[in-house]
Amino acid sequence: MNPEQKDTDCIFCKIVNGEVPTELLYQDEDVVVFRDINPLTPVHLLVVTRKHIPSLAHMSDEDTALVGKMTRVANQVAKEQGIADSGYRVTINSGADSGQIVPHLHMHLMGGRHLRWGH
Ligand code: AMP
Repeated sequence: MNPEQKDTDCIFCKIVNGEVPTELLYQDEDVVVFRDINPLTPVHLLVVTRKHIPSLAHMSDEDTALVGKMTRVANQVAKEQGIADSGYRVTINSGADSGQIVPHLHMHLMGGRHLRWGH
């Protein structure tokens, strides 16, 4: 990951800005939700901030409400996807050891099958 990556080079900025056409399952002034291009579970969505924040480790105090909103939107979309009752997982990878590959803050929303606890 290169945290210095410019917004203009960021694939998620391009999706958020509409430069890369992508079906949005949810959108508002702060976040968008779209399907992960390489789904690991039957439902695998990404809750992505419109603001370019390279990772959770880069969030500032002013982003606290935004990060909370990501969780609320994940809950709402999980209901819409029909996985709220069966259960789901939200994950934010931050930094190299987590396996983060896209340096733009996003939350994975995964479900639709039983998930084992990984390592
Ligand atoms: P990570 O940075 O490891 O938390 O995960 C980034 C996720 O973004 C991966 O699961 C990728 O499959 C996904 N991804 C990368 N590019 C795109 C894209 N253009 N559209 C949708 N998902 C993407």
